[in-house]
Amino acid sequence: MSESYEYILETEHVSKSFGSLEVLKDINLKVKKGEVICIIGPSGAGKPTYLRSLNQLETITSGKIFIKGDLFLHREKDHTIADVSKAQRKALLLEMGMCFQRFNLFPHKTVLENVMLAPITVKKEHPQQVQAEAMELLESVGLADKANEYPSRLSGGQQQRVAIARALAMKPEIMLFDEPTSALDPELVGDVLQVMKDLAAKGMTMLCVTHEMGFARDVADRVLFMADGIIAEEGRPEDLFTNPQNPRTQAFLKSVL
Ligand code: ADP
Repeated sequence: MSESYEYILETEHVSKSFGSLEVLKDINLKVKKGEVICIIGPSGAGKPTYLRSLNQLETITSGKIFIKGDLFLHREKDHTIADVSKAQRKALLLEMGMCFQRFNLFPHKTVLENVMLAPITVKKEHPQQVQAEAMELLESVGLADKANEYPSRLSGGQQQRVAIARALAMKPEIMLFDEPTSALDPELVGDVLQVMKDLAAKGMTMLCVTHEMGFARDVADRVLFMADGIIAEEGRPEDLFTNPQNPRTQAFLKSVL
């Protein structure tokens, strides 16, 4: 991997189609280490598809993805022009953690076991060390006292905080959040957003698809407004929320604020 890089994550001309449906059209983005980016926009915009394309849950149709300065993937017209070796691919993918709308914890494992699983099985780390780090992470999301519970005994908000701890246990440099609070009852949203705020304050690079405009306003360094597969407008939250330039951004914000 490159020793130094200007952008921790970069996409050039990223497009993605499902059959004849063009969901992403020429997305260009450069993300600096430590930057917090919130992605907002109407349904059908392609927000989760973009996030999922970054960590290869979707395969882009064309474009380039760079991670820490390395060309991770280059595709044109559904053909791979260049990608990295299998080992490098694994290493670069491990730089990204992801949290989904649905937390998908393993139901038959305790909270602690959920957090410990990937570092032990994927990274072959020492269980004792992993356990100590997992307990620290559970502490940081306010759930150390639930370590030995099973997920079904936790609220949705608590489960999502475990899912965040689980992703962090792999020590990613970039966290991708796909509407992590949208499946939660309103009273449970705040605790999850607080965990994300704490993470941002610690300098984590974050890309968050969110409907939480207050969160985006408070925490984002940059807000992207996506519509119809393009980044229609982007800017600092204080500019984009108070003085949107694009009529589509104006209409969207009017409908949600
Ligand atoms: P958003 O949340 O911004 O609406 P998505 O990225 O979820 O955007 O979806 C954008 C569009 O892509 C939607 O029209 C959706 O139906 C379509 N889409 C998403 N995933 C798939 C898929 N796996 N197969 C076919 N169409 C999909």
